[in-house]
Amino acid sequence: MKTAVVTGGASGIGLGVAQRLRDNGFHVATLDLNPPADDDFAYRADVTDPDQVNEAITSVRAALGPVTVLVNAAGLDGFKRFQNINFEEWKRVIDVNLHGVFHCVQAVLPDMLEAGWGRIVNISSSSTHSGQPFMSHYVSAKSAVNGLTKALALELGPSGITVNAVPPGFIDTPMLRKNEEARRLGGTVEDHIQRTPVRRVGTPADIAAACAFLISEDASYITGQILGVNGGRNT
Ligand code: NAP
Repeated sequence: MKTAVVTGGASGIGLGVAQRLRDNGFHVATLDLNPPADDDFAYRADVTDPDQVNEAITSVRAALGPVTVLVNAAGLDGFKRFQNINFEEWKRVIDVNLHGVFHCVQAVLPDMLEAGWGRIVNISSSSTHSGQPFMSHYVSAKSAVNGLTKALALELGPSGITVNAVPPGFIDTPMLRKNEEARRLGGTVEDHIQRTPVRRVGTPADIAAACAFLISEDASYITGQILGVNGGRNT
């Protein structure tokens, strides 16, 4: 049985991915800032802190064996006019969304190289297709994640490791609802459904299905790809 780690696995998309991979027969451990107390394999780690990430991965390895699947779903958004973003805010958004991926990949890579097999899926954002006003730090970080995905795919392919990105668009999670409540969406979720070609909001299960495919043996010839899951909002 393979062991998968899902960051941001306590909420929204990460939670959905963790559930799907468990259903598909993986051992699954999650890393998050506030892990649920009733899950033995939910670890507390801030992905921006390499010591916390390494400590958590060491515990996962001891409990469940080598980690050969990684889904990076931990994320932090931000909404501010560019000229009002201070450098600390800029750095925190880059730190969580980009450096968090760096730390987590570095922590699990030795297991994948040793196994000669691995799957990395990075959850970026549909805002990287089109840009997004008031999210310059977030769009920059997520675009870098797409770039990192492509570079790593080339570097790690010969070692049996695939690296792909899934940029979600308009997925019904606490992050989306928080932004609806703060009136940052330019309308309600219901309004947006009318502007979405498939006429519904996405679910964590939609993203989990794409991740499950990219992690499966059926996807062993797919690497360095950016698979948009957004109901047709970005084509
Ligand atoms: P969510 O419900 O807020 O889940 C994100 C999770 O990441 C939360 O549990 C959060 O913990 C955790 N997290 C944040 N900072 C962390 C850190 N430094 N270390 C460890 N964990 C951390 O949001 P979501 O919508 O599921 O988002 C999942 C991913 O999809 C994110 O990368 C997001 O940028 C991306 N995304 C989502 C959408 C969408 O429509 N929902 C669209 C585009 C991209 P706390 O809640 O405790 O802070």
